[in-house]
Amino acid sequence: MGDESVLGGQTEAMKAVVYAGYGETPTLAEVAEPLCEADGVVIAVRATGVCRSDWHAWNGHDPVPLPHTPGHELAGVIAEVGADVTRWQVGDRVTVPFVCGCGVCEYCVAGDAQVCPDQTQPGFTGPGPSPSGSRSARRT
Ligand SMILES: [Zn+2]
Ligand SMILES: [Zn+2]
Repeated sequence: MGDESVLGGQTEAMKAVVYAGYGETPTLAEVAEPLCEADGVVIAVRATGVCRSDWHAWNGHDPVPLPHTPGHELAGVIAEVGADVTRWQVGDRVTVPFVCGCGVCEYCVAGDAQVCPDQTQPGFTGPGPSPSGSRSARRT
């Protein structure tokens, strides 16, 4: 895919595995680096997996935004912290749950983020992580 930026509107690029359509062969492409939102962090991904859930998304059984970077099982280090983040700092080693609650609704406050109506899922509601030290934006 050359140096074409396929995700987001930021100017800096990084490498990520991307597929353009369901069932199409994934390629290594240049994508825009994620922006760090005020209530989020950017994770420098050090390892990620791709599992059968990602296979279902790739086949269109679980619709995802296209083009898409698969994966939701990641570990890495926080590379950037948003201005409103108080509990995390650059250098913290982290992973991310499959279901990421909003953190502020009644379900999240009660500890039930798995039923948050505003939940996100890395690799499904947005791009997943990529290997080789790429970055992934996450809300805290
Ligand atoms: Zn999985
Ligand atoms: Zn919530």
